[in-house]
Amino acid sequence: MEFNYDPQNIFAKILRGEIPNNTVYENDHALAFHDIAPQAPTHILVIPKGPYMSLDHFARDASADEQVCFMQAVAKVCEIAGVDDGFRAIANSREHGIQEVPHFHLHIVAGRVLGRMLEQ
Ligand code: AMP
Repeated sequence: MEFNYDPQNIFAKILRGEIPNNTVYENDHALAFHDIAPQAPTHILVIPKGPYMSLDHFARDASADEQVCFMQAVAKVCEIAGVDDGFRAIANSREHGIQEVPHFHLHIVAGRVLGRMLEQ
């Protein structure tokens, strides 16, 4: 699989400070911010700072440091958001996954019963 990262995607612009975001947490290699169109009371996106398009791209090519920082950011977000009653982590990927922004992001959604995993 060849990954051609588009540096003009909206999350790349957020990382460069060209577009504002509502930051929840940040570390050396990851940024977490509130989704602009929340689909649950808690809806936070965790993204790596590096140019990775999707979960499989990140898992294949990101360094151990980047991967550890990313997962530590996920843990922090869950702690900050207080998701003790449960949550869902979603990584929509490419066309069939209906991924809109081609920069890897993990949705952390919580705050209500979320229904079944897939609608169709
Ligand atoms: P996906 O369909 O998995 O690619 O999800 C992209 C997500 O990014 C959607 O939930 C959007 O609401 C969210 N989004 C798009 N632009 C922004 C932005 N500027 N700030 C925060 N979230 C955004």
